[in-house]
Amino acid sequence: MQHIITTDVLVPMTWDDTAGKWRLAPAALDGSELDVPEPPEHCSTDKCECDEQDECDAVSSRAVWGHIPSGRELAEMIKTATANHS
Ligand SMILES: [Zn+2]
Repeated sequence: MQHIITTDVLVPMTWDDTAGKWRLAPAALDGSELDVPEPPEHCSTDKCECDEQDECDAVSSRAVWGHIPSGRELAEMIKTATANHS
């Protein structure tokens, strides 16, 4: 059974008042993992429609320790995903 475990990442931005728009903050590209909203238990099983909650929770507790992408890695993930998305 494939469980659906989700999380979110926070991409730091800074407001450029002169240009009137948001820009990526330098911290987004410093090579470190992006932040998650509620570490360390940032994963959710809410999107999974299984009826095996114990197994789902076990998968989620492993996912908590998965590598969170850096800003550059996230950019590459989005680039790959959009290239494969029809
Ligand atoms: Zn599940």
